[in-house]
Amino acid sequence: MGIEEKLPGGVLLTTVEKLAGYMRKGSLWPATFGLACCAIEMMATTSGRYDLARFGMEAFRASPRQADLMIVAGRVSQKMAPVLRQIYDQMAEPKWVLAMGVCASSGGMFNNYAIVQGVDHVVPVDIYLPGCPPRPEMLLNAILALHEQIAQMPLGVHRDEAVRAAEQAALASKPTIEFTGLLR
Ligand code: SF4
Repeated sequence: MGIEEKLPGGVLLTTVEKLAGYMRKGSLWPATFGLACCAIEMMATTSGRYDLARFGMEAFRASPRQADLMIVAGRVSQKMAPVLRQIYDQMAEPKWVLAMGVCASSGGMFNNYAIVQGVDHVVPVDIYLPGCPPRPEMLLNAILALHEQIAQMPLGVHRDEAVRAAEQAALASKPTIEFTGLLR
């Protein structure tokens, strides 16, 4: 968070938003955080065959202080959840989270007490990637979709407006289960 958060709404803020979005999407540094089998596919994505470096992302950082993207690659055990949260808290702002694979997204086939049933119980997730395991091409596609989100990210008063609009939309949305008659 810097001076861009203090700018008044208008042409200047819109220009800064576009510039910041363009630079942020081209300079993501992922944290090294492989948890299970999905991590092998994540590692393959950085190899010469798939070449993640094309998108300015070849530098996986071992320190969360130097990373702004957490790719949760694999199932999250109950024991690992607090560690994951601590690493997330230590990452630089602004930061993003990609849940890679069904296990990270929802617990997948591990419907049991040992595995967190979706990493969004622990950290906010910006993009979910299905598959078991997702192929490197799928990870590249998810990262490019995240780049689009980052490029459109509003700042300052524009973000406040976006948050208010999202809140209103959530309040106005229909419940996913309609109760009729006696409670089930
Ligand atoms: S989604 Fe599949 S490949 Fe990925 S961690 Fe789970 S079991 Fe392993």
